[in-house]
Amino acid sequence: MNSVVNKKIVILGTGGTIAGKSAVAGDNVGYVASQIGVEQLLGAIPALAGAKDGVSSKASYGGCELVCEQVSQIDSKDMNFEVWQCLLARCQHWLAQPDVQGIVITHGTDTLEETAFFLQCCLDTAKPVVLTCAMRPATAIAPDGPQNLLDALAVASSDDQNGIRGVVAVCAGVIHSAVDVQKVHNYRLDAFSSGDAGVLGYVKEGKLDICRKYEVNSRLAGVFIASIAIKSIAKMTSLPRVEIVLNHSGATGAIVEALLAQRKTATSNQLAGIVIAATGNGTISKELEIALQKAEASGITVWRSTRCAFGALVGKADVQFGDSHGLSPVKARIALMLHLAQGAT
Ligand code: ASP
Repeated sequence: MNSVVNKKIVILGTGGTIAGKSAVAGDNVGYVASQIGVEQLLGAIPALAGAKDGVSSKASYGGCELVCEQVSQIDSKDMNFEVWQCLLARCQHWLAQPDVQGIVITHGTDTLEETAFFLQCCLDTAKPVVLTCAMRPATAIAPDGPQNLLDALAVASSDDQNGIRGVVAVCAGVIHSAVDVQKVHNYRLDAFSSGDAGVLGYVKEGKLDICRKYEVNSRLAGVFIASIAIKSIAKMTSLPRVEIVLNHSGATGAIVEALLAQRKTATSNQLAGIVIAATGNGTISKELEIALQKAEASGITVWRSTRCAFGALVGKADVQFGDSHGLSPVKARIALMLHLAQGAT
């Protein structure tokens, strides 16, 4: 008997280029993101049983019924805590159902790695949660969204033996872990990289070719003691505010000083943390370093990461400022927000 018969895969739509439309057929860049509903996206994939006429009626994949839900319809450059809260709640709801095999989330590429990381930190699940996307709008001559969606369904329907559990991203036939995935190209279809950690595997004609085991918890050890309670997140209006400050040639302490000055007047969502996107192996200009020391002395938590696309800081963990545990600045920001929220609950 096929073990996945009567199982469901839930597809949560959030918008992005995958749902984008251009007025000029074939335009790959002049389009408006987030125009097409998630059901219609499925309807555009002839390979899905039951999908027809631009709408998926009882569509299925690999014996799993496909259930669609539109969580938001935004360009992911505008991703925010409210959508994350909603997405987290819907993931938690569906993952708790015994007949749900896995979840696919359609998402814009720009902040996909942030949403993936946020969900990985907050969801404690052995089921696959697969974010997918597109670099070309649905109206392109050769859109990449339909194949990416199909590949994501292949990952979401995979069994335990393939070792895909927790949150992953699938784009251009490549499977990346939520911890390592990073958008590294603004135009190419294969826009993501897993850096030094390497990809988790590939999707080839609906079959998974797995390269390495997903050791997510060991990568996150040291950043979190335990996942923050999802119930606490649902009650919050925002996460503690953390800003990213970049070191660069000529960097002064002006931005940090401005943040500190604002802190004296702001009444809500006070600055609680700063992630410094340092140069190279964690270097910071003299002036910026002095300003960051001042920030730390005034109670702001400062974590050091690197603006280098690849690699993790070596030998900087025990010196001044907190260590970002090899996370990129955008992921370190999320980790610090959750870390501070954990302390506050
Ligand atoms: N700006 C789009 C978004 O992130 C880009 C994309 O999806 O590729 O929603």
